[in-house]
Amino acid sequence: DAFIVKVSRAKALNAFIVETPDHAIAAAKDADAARAAGETLKPLAGVPIGMKDLFATKGVQTTAASQMLEGFKPVYESTVSGRLWDAGAGMLGKLNLDQFAMGSSNETSYFGNVISPWRRGGGDNAALAPGGSSGGSSSAIAARLVPGATGTDTGGSIRQPAAFTGISGIKPTYGRCSRWGVVAFASSLDQAGPMARSVQDCAILLENMAGFDPKDSTSLQLPVPKWEDNLSGSLAGKKIGIPKEYRVDGMPEEIEALWQQGIDWLKDAGAEIVEVSLPHTKYALPAYYIIAPAEASSNLARYDGVRYGLRELAEGQNLQEMYAATRAAGFGDEVKRRILIGTYVLSAGFYDAYYTQAQKVRTLIARDFDNAWAQCDLLLTPTAPSAAFALGEKSADPLAMYLNDVFTVPSSLAGLPAMSVPGGLDKAGLPLGLQIIGKPMDEQGVLNAGLAIE
Ligand code: GLN
Repeated sequence: DAFIVKVSRAKALNAFIVETPDHAIAAAKDADAARAAGETLKPLAGVPIGMKDLFATKGVQTTAASQMLEGFKPVYESTVSGRLWDAGAGMLGKLNLDQFAMGSSNETSYFGNVISPWRRGGGDNAALAPGGSSGGSSSAIAARLVPGATGTDTGGSIRQPAAFTGISGIKPTYGRCSRWGVVAFASSLDQAGPMARSVQDCAILLENMAGFDPKDSTSLQLPVPKWEDNLSGSLAGKKIGIPKEYRVDGMPEEIEALWQQGIDWLKDAGAEIVEVSLPHTKYALPAYYIIAPAEASSNLARYDGVRYGLRELAEGQNLQEMYAATRAAGFGDEVKRRILIGTYVLSAGFYDAYYTQAQKVRTLIARDFDNAWAQCDLLLTPTAPSAAFALGEKSADPLAMYLNDVFTVPSSLAGLPAMSVPGGLDKAGLPLGLQIIGKPMDEQGVLNAGLAIE
């Protein structure tokens, strides 16, 4: 019953698209039965979590927050959600997100925006964005409706919402978590990861999400390390790089101060701080906003009115007309914008000028990080250039929205593990996040630095 009360409280935040209290209750009962029988409990026995509505859940509506998939009930379970259920967790509901995970504020959802439980101090009651695209996850965790949730991160969608709401979230190395059964946005970038109140909870959840999956050809064929057992807040002997190119023009003073505070905390934990250079950083955002839409335009071709969800078909229409009508009705504006950009940069006349160039830039960005690893073990940066903005503040200006991803996309393009942890509050009392970026497969290093900051 407590679950049900909590879920109904969540309505005010619009964090859930679908509520599934029975799923969570069944897991809690299994845990109780195991406890009564004196069995060893599973790692997540009875823990009720939220599932971003980008993960296919068997028999439970999976929408990607799009009208295109309204009513779609998969006949299969995503690998990541299946692993969590095998570990004993239960699902409280499917969490709201930006439509097809495209956005940084959760305002592109067909099911309406999510509200952050945070407010600015001083009587300013403006409703704030919970970040995006995993805004249902961040809002639900920050409001203490769930202890943890899944997120996905293509260019920052775990880290930026975590930063906006004062929680933690880790995007593991590309390939750590299976993408099987996760609605695809940009396949070479998409990665699942956990969001939770603490670094330790992130480690526990990630251990029960990650692992090789033969159903995903990009899945890493590596064992899952015992991240939680090896958590340590000591950074003795570690070198932390501070990339000077992240000190962007017009960076607010409080973000500068947050960064300096993070540096001091890591020094206190025994780390040595070194300045490093990632010279191609300024090209990351434009490259990302070519590559991600290009892949999206290809991935979203499957929503044709034939195979999934919505079908708009008027009397006497032919197949082409049905495709057009379905896609015109089913996709939101931001999704259409991405499809148009994607098909444009992939078209015969512009492919070399945009798509090939962006791929070259991606290689240069990955090389920048490789060079940095010769000088340091981890990187520390702010997660986002600002605290949470008000709902509506950036929704009419896609470029202003895209700029919010400036610090998160480079590590996505390079496939590196990266985490956001709460770093303090701004002048208005809103949370700010610090980002730790690690070498490929060094989730342990990232989590340990996160713990040192926490
Ligand atoms: N905000 C970025 C975008 O809109 C990242 C989204 C994500 O990581 N899914 O593409």
